[in-house]
Amino acid sequence: MDDITARMAALRAPTDDSFSLPSVPSSKPSAGDKPVKRLTSKTDYTDDDIDTWCTVCLNDATLRCLGCDDDPYCTRCWREMHIGPAAAFDDRSHKAVQFTRARKKDQQRVALGA
Ligand SMILES: [Zn+2]
Ligand SMILES: [Zn+2]
Repeated sequence: MDDITARMAALRAPTDDSFSLPSVPSSKPSAGDKPVKRLTSKTDYTDDDIDTWCTVCLNDATLRCLGCDDDPYCTRCWREMHIGPAAAFDDRSHKAVQFTRARKKDQQRVALGA
């Protein structure tokens, strides 16, 4: 975050001769340095809201797949992952339920394993 802020500031700064200064840090922090917060550039959602996104395309989820550990999907991606040609054989038997924002993971688990 600080690195991005610094770079943004650098971009806004007058371009006089700052580019030729050797003191400008040129190395980017590696991805493994610290956990990169997902989607910071896209939205201000908190981590909790991730549960309401399609796990594939990150649009608003409309389904939850009981066979995928209750992962949220939008209808299109769920079809692609479970019905379309890209679907794994095991995934074709997955059952999806309508997505609700309430966290009912433990309750929905009842339907599994029958
Ligand atoms: Zn999707
Ligand atoms: Zn599934």
